[in-house]
Formats: sequence, C-alpha cells, structure tokens
Amino acid sequence: MTRIDDLPIRDELRGKTPYGAPQLDVPVRLNTNENPYPLPEPLVERIAERVREAARELNRYPDRDAVELRTQLAAYLTRTTGHRIGLAGVWAANGSNEVIQQLLQTFGGPGRTAIGFEPSYSMHALISRSTGTGWISGARRADFTIDVEGAKAQIAALRPDVVFVCSPNNPTGTAVEADTVLALYEAAQAAKAGTAGAIVVVDEAYGEFSHRPSLLPLIEGRPNLVVSRTMSKAFGAAGLRLGYLAADPAVVDAVQLVRLPYHLSAVTQATALAALEHTDTLLGYVEQLKAERDRLVTELRAIGCEVTESDANFVQFGRFEDAHAAWQGLLDRGVLVRDNGVPGWLRVTAGTPAENDAFLDAVRELKKEN
Ligand code: PMP
Repeated sequence: MTRIDDLPIRDELRGKTPYGAPQLDVPVRLNTNENPYPLPEPLVERIAERVREAARELNRYPDRDAVELRTQLAAYLTRTTGHRIGLAGVWAANGSNEVIQQLLQTFGGPGRTAIGFEPSYSMHALISRSTGTGWISGARRADFTIDVEGAKAQIAALRPDVVFVCSPNNPTGTAVEADTVLALYEAAQAAKAGTAGAIVVVDEAYGEFSHRPSLLPLIEGRPNLVVSRTMSKAFGAAGLRLGYLAADPAVVDAVQLVRLPYHLSAVTQATALAALEHTDTLLGYVEQLKAERDRLVTELRAIGCEVTESDANFVQFGRFEDAHAAWQGLLDRGVLVRDNGVPGWLRVTAGTPAENDAFLDAVRELKKEN
C-alpha cells in the first residue's frame, strides 16, 4: 500500500496530520462551535427559491466579483458595527479559512513569516505552513490575554509580514482590547520600516457573540489592517462555507491576484444572499446563545470549574489534571466537547438550553467521581 510519505510531497507536509475535530455520532455535540439552531423554515424556503433561480443560469460562470453579495455584506457590517463600509472594502470567499488562505497567499509565502498568539485558532499556523509562510508562535499570559509588551518585543525582533489577532480568541474565548490591536499594528509597521509594512489580520469569526463592539472601525486610515468574518457561526450557516473580510479597498484588489476565478459558486452566492435577508431572525438566535454562554460560565463556576471569561459562543473550562481523560469521561456520558490540546483545559460550545443542561449534568457527575 502506498503511504503519503512514499509520495513526492513537499518536505514541510511530511509527517503532518490533517486538521479536523472528530465527527462522532453522539447525542450532544458541542465540539465545533457550530450554531445549534437549524435555519428557520421560511429561510430554508427562501434559499430554495434563490437557488432555483440560480440553477437556471448554472450553464454560465457565477458573478466573479460577487457584487450583490458583497454589497449586502457591506450593508450588514455598516448596520451592525456603525462603521460605514461599501462594496469596495469587502471581499468574500468559501469560509473565512479561504479568506485567510488568500491573505497568506497575497501577503505571506516563501521567505516571509506570520505570527499568532497561542493557544489560538490552529488553522492560522496550518494555512501559513501550507502557503510556505514561516510560523512564529507568540505566547499569551496565564490568563490567556495577549502580553502586549512581550508581543511587541517579539514583533520588533522577528519582523513578521503577517500578524494574526483572533478576537474573540478560539479556543479561549478571550476578546482583545482595541488598544492592544493598535499597539500590535504600530509595532508591526515599525518593525518593517522602510518597506510597505506588515498586514494585521483580526479574525472576528465570533465577533457577533462578543460583549464588546467590533474592532472593524479600526480599519479606518490603516490600510494594513484586515478584519475577517464568517457566516458559519452567527448566521448558523457552517455548511454554507461563506467567509468575508473588510479592509481598505486596496487589500480587496490585492487578493484578486491570488483568488481562483469564479471561486464562489452561484449556489453559494444565492444561499448567502437569502440568509442575509433573514439577518434579524438569525441575530435573535445569537442573543439566545449569548445568554446560554453566560449561563454556562456561571454554572460551571458554581460546579467548581475554572472558566476563562468568554466573548464567543463557547467556553473554555478546567482545570483538569488530565484534560483528555475528562474529555473521554464526558464522551462516555454522551457529550462531545473539544480537547484543543491546551493542558488542563477543555472547550464547550454553547448549544440549546437542553444540550447545555445535559453537558452540565455530565460535568457534575464527572466531578463527583473524581
Ligand atoms: N476563524 C476562527 C477563529 C475559527 O474558529 C474558525 C472556525 N472554527 C474559522 C476562522 C473558520 O471558519 P469558516 O471557514 O467556517 O468561516
């Protein structure tokens, strides 16, 4: 049998394993930060209608520039962040993972480096690697906030081309202060003085769940600052694969150099447009999830767990002597959470009230046993 390593694959991919949480058939699945609410039926109907219309023209390539979709995404961002942004400052792709990939293809690459503050979203490192971008692991403090002085020193010394700031951060739930982003932005530009600077990517995949306002307004007057977003979480549409970014229009022009032509299918564009028509209903679910997230924090603490303050639709909890054994203990009770490999900690996604109750019962039982 031929194995991967028998193939002439790139050296940096040798011995690596693909990213992916286990997709197990378990009664309560709270492991991938999905929205637990299926799309409401009127929206399902609207998607069917819009896709039917799109199907009539599937013999043609889709709108390569996704103009109608980007216009609606810009209107959504303007409405929800208070920062006026137009079509020219918004770009969309197949999930924010593809947005990040396009950014690294444009601003990273061989001979260049990217930094992120770990533990954080592991795809930042993985996509860096797969685009030939060197990865620099910046650290967080014990409370999982970014150590600004330490980060600035690391940026000054290593002069990265791309800086990832995940806010709210996955897997810790930690939001990043605007002042921190500004300090890192200034440090990154200063480190690259004499060049066109460094790109700072603020990953706001969970932005809608935060107690704080979006960091999007910071892009004003900062052409090297990019905010990425997704419809996978707040819009309850992980299966759609639609991510987007907001930035100076020059950034949007730049990613055109690497995007595949017609990368966003007509079916994807039609579905995303239908979902955007139902924004208010979907944001209503976000409010429910925020309340459930806050309840998880309170109840986990009452049970005696340590909990990291969360601005996302998930909660990091611990601390366990053996987090993997605790993960298995919860799985044995029918509840799947995520072991992100952060020593002592696990992560649970806020589900429906019933799912969260089942999770909390399982944690209580686990605590009693140990
Ligand atoms: N950024 C962060 C921080 C995430 O947690 C995720 C998904 N888990 C993504 C980006 C990618 O999401 P998607 O590709 O579904 O938009």
